[in-house]
Amino acid sequence: EAARDVLERAGERGATRLGVEAMPLLDAYGIPTPAGEVVDSPVDALAVAERIGDPVVMKIVSPDILHKSDIGGVKVGVAHEDVYDAFEDLVTRARNYQPDATILGVQVQEMVETESGVETIAGTNRDPQFGPLVLFGLGGVFVEVMEDTALRLAPLAESEARAMLDEIQAAPLLSGARGRDPVDEPAVTEALARLSQLVTDFPAILELDVNPLVARPDGVQAVDLRLTLD
Ligand code: ADP
Ligand code: MG
Repeated sequence: EAARDVLERAGERGATRLGVEAMPLLDAYGIPTPAGEVVDSPVDALAVAERIGDPVVMKIVSPDILHKSDIGGVKVGVAHEDVYDAFEDLVTRARNYQPDATILGVQVQEMVETESGVETIAGTNRDPQFGPLVLFGLGGVFVEVMEDTALRLAPLAESEARAMLDEIQAAPLLSGARGRDPVDEPAVTEALARLSQLVTDFPAILELDVNPLVARPDGVQAVDLRLTLD
């Protein structure tokens, strides 16, 4: 129901491209996300930060900005005393990038510990012939460079999702290469299966990317979201 609400509200706005403001979709499907909220003033930003932690991550939220970090639209490790400045700076950067950009606000998000983890991508798209597909691979900047991904038809059984983890060339990174702890592979598998259920339930979702899905020894966190609606 929560998922339906998010998509209906987007439909009413006439929005076809959604970002982190749609994170409640993932929550609704039991995919872990860091605490976060989209706010439209520095005062509200600080109020959210005081609730979720110190430091926080702050991101510009705009359907016109696809790659937030490319324009300096993601600030990691923002201390409470810097929240006001960070808010103003994010909005200024967005305006400089595109003066008529629609700015929905700024997301204030809990910091996720990424050192012990691997940034992966979990995505979906829709094949005109075969229907929804799920993609998994290394996330972050590597996704475009490496093209190291596994692809399956949705909905995914957990066993199929599990096979995707082993299939990518970067699999040793997940299973603990060079003395690193292995990531929580059952949690990654479950996130993939749940994502595949989400896009199976909502045919209006044409494309969806969770990048990164941070995979750690103690579970996963979906840190960023982008999707396209019919
Ligand atoms: P975009 O992909 O639009 O540039 P992201 O939200 O994916 O923006 O952020 C870019 C990078 O910043 C991520 O790949 C991740 O390394 C880091 N990052 C983003 N959010 C968090 C967070 N909550 N905690 C820790 N690191 C984060
Ligand atoms: Mg991202």
